[in-house]
Amino acid sequence: MQKTTKIWTIGTLLKWTQDYFASKNIESARIDAEVLLAHLLQKERIYLYVHFDEPLQEEELTAFRELVKKRAMREPVAYIIGKKEFMGMTFIVNKNVLVPRPETEHLVEAVSERLPTNKNNVIADIGTGSGAIAISLAKICKSIKVYAVDISEQALIVARENASVLQADNIEFCQGDLLTPLSGLEKNSLQAIVSNPPYIPQSDMADLEPDVREYEPHNALTDDNDGFDFYRRLLGESQALLREDGFLACEIGIGQAEEIKKIAQQNNWGRCEIIKDLANIERVIILWKQK
Ligand code: SAM
Ligand code: GLN
Repeated sequence: MQKTTKIWTIGTLLKWTQDYFASKNIESARIDAEVLLAHLLQKERIYLYVHFDEPLQEEELTAFRELVKKRAMREPVAYIIGKKEFMGMTFIVNKNVLVPRPETEHLVEAVSERLPTNKNNVIADIGTGSGAIAISLAKICKSIKVYAVDISEQALIVARENASVLQADNIEFCQGDLLTPLSGLEKNSLQAIVSNPPYIPQSDMADLEPDVREYEPHNALTDDNDGFDFYRRLLGESQALLREDGFLACEIGIGQAEEIKKIAQQNNWGRCEIIKDLANIERVIILWKQK
């Protein structure tokens, strides 16, 4: 926006920012403008509409310019404002964790619906990132214990902070490679293993939006191979840890279901369920332990 004597109101500033973001090919131009301005003013978005014709202070404009510059460089809004809503809760995020996605809520719902209500559940979230899945399940399910694993110590710092702010105290965070930190657990001790692993094939990385490709942690997105490495390992190694009526639940990428079902057959898994997301994309696979 111009540094002139023009008086900027909330309404004119939003319109200018929306057009500017759109000129940078940002699809969510309007909502991004609103979220950033609401964040700066420390208000809800509805406040912007109630106060649409009110002028902004010079300091507010100066601070807003910095946020707009970052977004125009395609930094995700969630990193700029430092938070993201997931399952109705606000998670702290930074560049060390994947921004939790709405699709991943299907995974949380699928797991919570399948956990028995009549016993103490012990589960593991592999690749916990911000802790979005582990913390949501810890909040939804009473008498649950969650092991939340990530290879990234930087991610675990964020996850621990989220657990503390959101008062989820039945989670043990462990640093390490996939199931390795759980090697001390007895066989048949987990009711469920849940994971949203890095599943984008290396060959698809160049097609990602710059918001994702240039800002989100590389090792949260891809296995640097065909996108199936983590499923091969998880499906190969996790069954022994599950209770007899236990299951593995994973988020999956577009078009990956058939190949993962094959990997499941090769590893002698039992019943398989596939759950679609709101865009009708096969998004979650549930594999029950072979009886
Ligand atoms: N669970 C979070 C969510 O759904 O928003 C984050 C999922 S992100 C797609 C994948 C996570 O797996 C990242 O936090 C990454 O650090 C972690 N990760 C990558 N390789 C790993 C490995 N070998 N062992 C454990 N975690 C790993
Ligand atoms: N769903 C994320 C995306 O498409 C990828 C996360 C993942 O690999 N699990 O950007």
